Amino acid sequence: ERLVGAAGDREEQAVEAALRPKDLGEFIGQEKVREQLDLVLRAARARGATADHVLLSGAPGLGKTTLSMIIAAEMEAPIRITSGPAIQHAGDLAAILSSLQEGEVLFLDEIHRMSRPAEEMLYMAMEDFRVDVIVGKGPGATAIPLELPPFTLVGATTRAGLLPPPLRDRFGFTAHMEFYEPAELERVIHRSAHLLDVEIDTDGAAEIAGRSRGTPRIANRLLRRVRDYAQVKADGVIDQAISGAALAVYEVDSRGLDRLDRGVLEALLKLFGGGPVGLSTLAVAVGEERETVEEVAEPFLVREGLLARTPRGRVATPAAWAHLGLTPPRSSTG
Ligand code: ADP
Repeated sequence: ERLVGAAGDREEQAVEAALRPKDLGEFIGQEKVREQLDLVLRAARARGATADHVLLSGAPGLGKTTLSMIIAAEMEAPIRITSGPAIQHAGDLAAILSSLQEGEVLFLDEIHRMSRPAEEMLYMAMEDFRVDVIVGKGPGATAIPLELPPFTLVGATTRAGLLPPPLRDRFGFTAHMEFYEPAELERVIHRSAHLLDVEIDTDGAAEIAGRSRGTPRIANRLLRRVRDYAQVKADGVIDQAISGAALAVYEVDSRGLDRLDRGVLEALLKLFGGGPVGLSTLAVAVGEERETVEEVAEPFLVREGLLARTPRGRVATPAAWAHLGLTPPRSSTG
């Protein structure tokens, strides 16, 4: 599994749960989102009402699940967690909705991956707190209306644009989560180190933050790997040298590129003179599937300004040459 990848295993989920901020005050960064959400929740509490439905968009690991739990905690409400892919049939959703308690928070991760019929049921549930349960099949089928208690839906998606407009419009509040600044990630790392009872100095945290791709989940993951290294190879205290050496072992470089990212860049520079080269050709050169290069490696390389997707193919930027310590050929810009 990729150290900088998105999905975590069971062990990671347990550690993550322990590291989750419990209220808005503990949640680091995302100032605007926090300020706005604070107002939404305070107003709802003052009215004694259930909070409006909230849509959270942003890359994996930026804190969407954490925020949904914070919303529930701040509203002193229970929370139910599920995901779009887990809801295959409208009936699955009906079962969940009809078992909600009044005021409960329903966290629906990857909401853009729900099935179409479930999505349509959700429209009505969100707006009127009502669903039509279809009983029977064919001409004899009847719709039985079912009242739901008021609840707060917190939907999460990688991009709000993936949602059909009618669904998007039914959220009272939409928050876009940005990648974190290095200084914010340093705070995440110091906080986690404290909770994990690990000693780390300022430079050690900065070194890990710089390699964490703007993502708290990755910061926490790298911290745990560095902690292992510090325990085995040193006295357990993490400084800059230990962080650098540990992450070199795990092949996460100074900008957070891993083996796959570097492989793609190296092929682009060394075999194709920096491009342009087609995606398929590039993928073959790296020995990976097209989709892996396009969906796993490229988004971060593009975001870092190391690679550009052009109509003629993939092109390396001057920053890519500099990062790999290579000199571009004279006529590289063609
Ligand atoms: P997402 O749901 O967006 O994939 P999560 O909410 O699961 O992300 O967050 C992943 C991990 O990162 C959690 O363990 C959490 O502790 C940590 N984390 C995320 N955002 C923050 C934050 N703003 N401050 C501190 N820790 C955070």
